[in-house]
Amino acid sequence: MRFLWNMAYRGVFYLGVYVNAWEGPKTYSLKQLKLNPKDFNARIADVALKLQKHGYDAYIVGGSIRDLLLRDGVVPKDFDIVTSALPQQIKKCFSRSRIIGKRFRIVHVPVGREVVEVCTFRGATPWLSWCFSDRYRNNIYGSIEQDVWRRDFSCNALYYDVKNANVVDFTGGVQDIKNKKLAVIGTCKARFKDDPVRMLRALRFLAKTNFRMDSSCQEEIKRQRRWLRQVSKDRLLLELTKLFNQGHAYASFKALVDYDYLGTLFSGYERLGIKIENYQQLFKSVFHAIDLKYQRNQRLSSSFLFAALLWPIFDTHANKLNKKTTYSVKKVIYRVLKFESRYVAIPGKLQEAIRDLWMLQFLLETKEKPFSEDRYRQPRFQVGYELFCLRAKHNEVLAEKAIMWQSQFESANTNHLSGQTDE
Ligand code: ATP
Ligand code: MG
Repeated sequence: MRFLWNMAYRGVFYLGVYVNAWEGPKTYSLKQLKLNPKDFNARIADVALKLQKHGYDAYIVGGSIRDLLLRDGVVPKDFDIVTSALPQQIKKCFSRSRIIGKRFRIVHVPVGREVVEVCTFRGATPWLSWCFSDRYRNNIYGSIEQDVWRRDFSCNALYYDVKNANVVDFTGGVQDIKNKKLAVIGTCKARFKDDPVRMLRALRFLAKTNFRMDSSCQEEIKRQRRWLRQVSKDRLLLELTKLFNQGHAYASFKALVDYDYLGTLFSGYERLGIKIENYQQLFKSVFHAIDLKYQRNQRLSSSFLFAALLWPIFDTHANKLNKKTTYSVKKVIYRVLKFESRYVAIPGKLQEAIRDLWMLQFLLETKEKPFSEDRYRQPRFQVGYELFCLRAKHNEVLAEKAIMWQSQFESANTNHLSGQTDE
């Protein structure tokens, strides 16, 4: 049935191309694009080749080709593969692979230390599809001619055929990348309504690539921001983490502020009427520090990111307290995290870590006596201390405290190291 439907769709599509009703796909050789097969991770390319050897269509797709064509130092970190093989068929080709995902069923194929995501071509949504659940509609499979229209932006809809070493472009993505244009596939309103996460993705790509976007689409992103509140909390957590975890955290933050997304995702910003300008310096330092970690290949701790992102909300509430005590501060933290996890999932373990980081800010501000030496060496203490130092950069009172803690912090680590060499 699926095969017949795909063939019929393909037939109509190429008939349309033949009679010039619409443009067909363009195929570029790697040479035309000034790319080299070596630009693609060889082991990942092998996954696509293996699928092709089993008789399936398989392509490397998505952000990796976009990033390679950008050529401004953005090195692709993840490669996605799309194929005509169904999840069960993919699984049969790779012995250690696993089918995962609720919203989209995808297959994780381990390649050395990495895991490659292999998806099946999504199909066009059939008539009466609104009668079915989202899960059903998201898992209708099709052919490349259908899959392309389900993708978000033209720059993300380029398919690299490993065997023939060429890139297939149905939507003018290559030209859009050259023109630095972020173009939605289809109409903005319909595509954003269909999946509001695409608005957040648009902000991510605008921040990452410095592309421009149609002003009507930009308006739509601003106007319809509240649609995001209907999206699954877990997806928002994932997208938000990606936004800050790819080396352009400050630009992403600015995009969130410019498009009024901060208050949409974390309603405390709106409710308390927090003025971002008052925290601008802190955010600048925090996000530059995060970007530096990315450049140095260091792991970004989500607790550090969220503790900083929600800091103004916690700070505003805490400043309203008549007396700051361990008990009253803990109560504020608990309330803030409860409210702010309304639209974006903040899982229990992450909440616990944020709680520790905020509590530590309070202790570092008020405590007179030193901590135990072990405490200084705890990774969470070090993360909390890093946040404190960033806050202290713009606050003289905190700066004095930071200097005081610095000497104790250093001597604890020196004692530890000398203890290790003595052994
Ligand atoms: P990154 O470099 O951050 O990985 P990416 O474009 O590869 O960016 P992914 O989240 O890895 O983003 O998604 C892979 C591809 O899947 C995208 O390039 C896009 O074609 C498609 N895609 C992902 N999310 C959506 C969505 N919400 N709507 C439509 N297409 C999507
Ligand atoms: Mg990707």
